[in-house]
Amino acid sequence: MNHANYRVKGMHCASCAGIIENTFKKIDGVQSVEVNYGTETAKVEFDESKTNPHALSEKIEKFGYSLVIPTANEMGMSADEHAIHIGLNQSRKEKLEEVAGMRSKVILAIPLAIFSVFIMGWDILAQYNTVFIMSDMIKEFFHHLLPIMATYMLFIVGKPYLLGFYRFLRYGKANMDTLIGIGTVAAYLYSFVVTAFEDVLSPFINVENTYYDVTIIVIAFITLGKYLEARSKIKTGDAIEKLLNLQAKTALVIRNGKEIEISVNNVAHGDIIIIKPGAKIPVDGIITEGSSFVDESMVSGEPMPVQKKVGDSIVSGTLNTNGTFTFKATKVGSETLLAQIIKMVEEAQGSKAPIQALADKISSIFVPTTLVIAFLTLGAWLLIGTSTLGFSQALSFGLVSFVGVLVIACPCALGLATPTAIIVGVGKGAKEGILIKDAATLEKLHKVDTVIVDKTGTITIGKPTLVDIQNLSNLKNDELVSILASLEKKSEHPIANAIVSYAQEKNILLNQVSSFEGIQGKGLKGLIDSVEYFVGNTKLIKDLGVTFNTSEIDQFTAQGKTPAILATKDKVLGFVMVADEIKAESKQAIEDLHKLGIKVVMLTGDDEKAAKYMASLVGIDDVVAHVLPQDKLVKIKELQSQGRVVAMAGDGVNDAPALAQADVGIAMGTGTDVAIESAGITLLGGDISKLVKAIKLSKMTMRGIKQNLFWAFIYNIVGIPLAAGVFYPIFGWLLSPVFAGFAMAMSSVSVVSNSLRIKAKKL
Ligand code: ADP
Ligand code: MG
Repeated sequence: MNHANYRVKGMHCASCAGIIENTFKKIDGVQSVEVNYGTETAKVEFDESKTNPHALSEKIEKFGYSLVIPTANEMGMSADEHAIHIGLNQSRKEKLEEVAGMRSKVILAIPLAIFSVFIMGWDILAQYNTVFIMSDMIKEFFHHLLPIMATYMLFIVGKPYLLGFYRFLRYGKANMDTLIGIGTVAAYLYSFVVTAFEDVLSPFINVENTYYDVTIIVIAFITLGKYLEARSKIKTGDAIEKLLNLQAKTALVIRNGKEIEISVNNVAHGDIIIIKPGAKIPVDGIITEGSSFVDESMVSGEPMPVQKKVGDSIVSGTLNTNGTFTFKATKVGSETLLAQIIKMVEEAQGSKAPIQALADKISSIFVPTTLVIAFLTLGAWLLIGTSTLGFSQALSFGLVSFVGVLVIACPCALGLATPTAIIVGVGKGAKEGILIKDAATLEKLHKVDTVIVDKTGTITIGKPTLVDIQNLSNLKNDELVSILASLEKKSEHPIANAIVSYAQEKNILLNQVSSFEGIQGKGLKGLIDSVEYFVGNTKLIKDLGVTFNTSEIDQFTAQGKTPAILATKDKVLGFVMVADEIKAESKQAIEDLHKLGIKVVMLTGDDEKAAKYMASLVGIDDVVAHVLPQDKLVKIKELQSQGRVVAMAGDGVNDAPALAQADVGIAMGTGTDVAIESAGITLLGGDISKLVKAIKLSKMTMRGIKQNLFWAFIYNIVGIPLAAGVFYPIFGWLLSPVFAGFAMAMSSVSVVSNSLRIKAKKL
């Protein structure tokens, strides 16, 4: 199975997505397909032995679309993410060219439309004696000018609509262009026949009524609307563009003892890279020499430059300030954090939010339904109208209504409502260091009413230090610490780091450990000089069944400190206490979550007293301590069964099952070791105040989508009956196709502008 994402050329409307999807689905070997009008991409899963991208593209070419298939050359490079960057830039360039092309059409079309409006307005005003009636000669002149202008508009500017009409006749496939095509062609043909056979027809119909102006103005407005839409659509996607610009093009590496500048594509693992003041970091790595402050705001959203010294990790796309240092490349090409971020943002922007399903369904039945309504309208006018208004007038109104219905029914705005808001929302998140995996996650997040947080690393900094040693044995303190640290050296728990760092600082020698084993949620065990030792929490000691009065550690845990107790099978030898600092932002973030009506629960494997103390410092409602990793999952299920929508924020490493069980899993990433794929949302530089921002962003985006859908729907719901002339018998209302064209154009533009508004809002 091949899974690929292609750009699609020639998409003009949301119903195009449906046509392409349906065409692909019918092809043998195609497993699944998802076409997105917002990003103009098609995600196709197909069996390579049965079909290929070129064959797929061919199938849609006759409908006016094509897939952009990377050439062999590009494919070779695309193992390297950078090629995709370049590819993306190209597509943007193409899009800009397309927009420029549309612009030149608009520049020609709008004066013609204004001129037609002027003539039309004059005619109307003259009827009411507000302006003088044009002399016959001038009228005659315009009479001949309008058909020429309309011909130009229909065949040159309106070519896409004409093609849409043609494809409808040829293949029976209708998209929104088809609607416009049929409408404008009908107005044009009718007028043309009237002009050509004026004398023959004059006894039967009013030959004064021609609709060249309708053709001219509708096409002009729709072209203008599409131009404005395309222009703003590019703006909705500029977050990717900004990320791409963070990527350095070259790197200064040391090869054979010489400094040389190479393309970033050629940087290999282990290369030593020199970073001069003000330079962009080209790939991810670890500093080997020197130190500096690095501005990481572009990937983490943190405004302050961070000090980096030997051994610290740095990531591509960040900016060195004024120091000089060298670093060893550990992640290159598509492995770098920046490349992963770009890939994730791109994929998320192209994914479909569940809320879009409704809009998709409606737009897929809209076009055929509209065609039926339009013909029914025409028929009804001729049938009912003729008896009351006479044939000539009924035909005239019928035609106007027919064109009006076709023009106003275009569900373009409907197709843009969701994707544009998602594109802007996901992009805005990325700028803040909030990485959203897909649109569905963003949608779900706004419903979250319970947030579960881990203590270590989420509420606290996650770098505890050893603050107390209580020796209950005849060993020297250093010997006690040596045993502890030797065992902990094999563990990756933050407590272990605290103990090992302490031993290193004190230059305490470590021993050889064998038969090491972690004991989940409790601690660890191992052999030193054939004595079996255990290190862990009170639970572990209880399991061992050795006598230990836990009240000895109570005074410490009451201050939020966590014990690591050292014991043999027979007795407790002593314990150390480690303490972690609460993150500066935690308290405010919890308060903000409460303000959003969200309940916050702390789930931790840590000691209950210590956890409760920490929770009370930051104002957390509910603490569940001493939980084993698998119990975290159970607790989440329990909350979900109470009807709660649960988000779980964890370090993403040992919390993976819980993150997966939660409705929204949120990984708090720090440094380079971010497991972006593992969670629905990754908060870079992870403090929990970003979670508040993420929830606000989700609410903002969903509100935007709902507004968009409302405006798109209401407009069609009101517009169609109005254009059909349903209200004519009662109020005398009839919507001119000219206004229908204008309104249609404006609706798309307003939906895209509404989505763009999200960009400017404060989180
Ligand atoms: P958490 O990530 O919430 O700390 P864990 O399941 O990783 O949950 O650990 C649960 C508890 O087990 C810790 O709070 C600690 O008391 C004990 N523990 C785990 N690993 C170690 C270790 N290496 N040394 C000492 N205690 C440990
Ligand atoms: Mg943990």
